[in-house]
Amino acid sequence: MRIIMVDRTTPKKNSGRRCEARLCDETTREGKPYCPKHVLGCVYAESVLNKRQAAEDEVRDVAKRGVEAVNLNGLIVEEILAAIENKKMTFRRLVKDHVVHLRDNKAAPHYLTALRRADLVEVELNTRKTEVVFLTDKGLRAVRGD
Ligand SMILES: [Zn+2]
Repeated sequence: MRIIMVDRTTPKKNSGRRCEARLCDETTREGKPYCPKHVLGCVYAESVLNKRQAAEDEVRDVAKRGVEAVNLNGLIVEEILAAIENKKMTFRRLVKDHVVHLRDNKAAPHYLTALRRADLVEVELNTRKTEVVFLTDKGLRAVRGD
């Protein structure tokens, strides 16, 4: 009688490929470049990129069509409000230091107009007679999400 050794191990679904995320040693499935955990990270990064892209498109649109094109729920307005939450500053400085997409962009004043119209920010003169922007109560609520 002969004993036949049969290899019953089924071929693994894992491709043997290693995740490309830094310091990750997991194998990936179905030949994907990332393990299940890091694939999610990529989806998140992609949605951030999409938001950035939408913001760039919006700024271009605002530069062309003016205040009507401002998206009060968009990333740019979110960034402006977040930047002035804790500090009064001139709109110019705000844009220069905090809102990358509006730097050297003629869309910037339209954002200020839109935010004032929506009662989210106010402008006042500081002691040096410079115009500074700050959040209204409504603006504060918008930033803090309540
Ligand atoms: Zn991984």
